[in-house]
Amino acid sequence: MNRIKGWMSYFLIFFFTVLIIPVACSNSQPEMGEWGYKGEIGPENWGELKEDFALCETGLQQSPINIDTEALTPKPQIEFSYDYTPLRVINLGHTVQVEYEPGSTIKVDNKQYELKQFHFHSPSEHQLNGKSYPMEVHLVHQSSDGELAVIGIFMEEGTKNRFISSIWPHVPKETRENPVSGVAINASALPPQEQVYFNYTGSLTTPPCSEGVNWIVFEKPIEVSDEQIEYFRSHYNVNARPVQPLNERQVI
Ligand SMILES: [Zn+2]
Repeated sequence: MNRIKGWMSYFLIFFFTVLIIPVACSNSQPEMGEWGYKGEIGPENWGELKEDFALCETGLQQSPINIDTEALTPKPQIEFSYDYTPLRVINLGHTVQVEYEPGSTIKVDNKQYELKQFHFHSPSEHQLNGKSYPMEVHLVHQSSDGELAVIGIFMEEGTKNRFISSIWPHVPKETRENPVSGVAINASALPPQEQVYFNYTGSLTTPPCSEGVNWIVFEKPIEVSDEQIEYFRSHYNVNARPVQPLNERQVI
C-alpha cells in the first residue's frame, strides 16, 4: 500500500513539474501595453518589440489586405450553425471581445470550425477597392486540427444595430472581464443577408501575427448607428492595423 502511495506521489510530482509548469510558461499571450496602435509600440514596430512578434515584419501572408473585387470567382455558401451563448464581454484594452461557449460552428469547403470569440476594430482593417469602413467585426473560429478561420464583416453608418445594443452597455470601463448574468446572445444576427464573400490566406492582425489563417471577408456591410460607432471609438480610438502587401496570394 505504502509502495503504491510512494509511486503516486512520484507521479504527481512528475506531472506538475514536467507537464503543467512548461504549459503554463509557454503561454506567450502578449501582455497589456506590450503593443499598441501608436508611436514606438505601433504596427510598424511590432516585429521588433518581441522575438515572438517577428512575423509581423517578415511574414509574406499578412492581414489585413485591400480586396480588389475585379476578376473574382464564385465560392460555395458558408453553413452557419450558431447557437445562443451566455454573454461574457472582455475589455482587452485594445478591443472589446465577446467569448463564445463551445457548440457553435461554421462549415467552409467541407471543413468545420468552432466559433471561439468575436471582437471589433475601428476603422475597418480590410479595405474594399481601397475603401475602408467605420468598423469591422471579426468572428474567430478554430477547427479540430487547430486551423483558424476568421469572418470579417464591415460595419457602415446607418440604422441602430439591435445586436450591438445588447453588447455595448456591458463593456467594462477598465480592462477586465464582465460575465453578464441573465443575458444570452446569438451571433447569427451578425452576418449580412447576402452571402458574397472573399477568401484568402492571411494572418492574425495583431501580434504575434501568426499566419495560415483562413480569412472570409463579406462584401456587404452591416449597419450600425453613428452613436454606436462613437461609443466604440470613445473606448478605442484607432485599433486597426494598416493594410499589408498581397505578395503572391490570390483572393477568391
Ligand atoms: Zn481582429
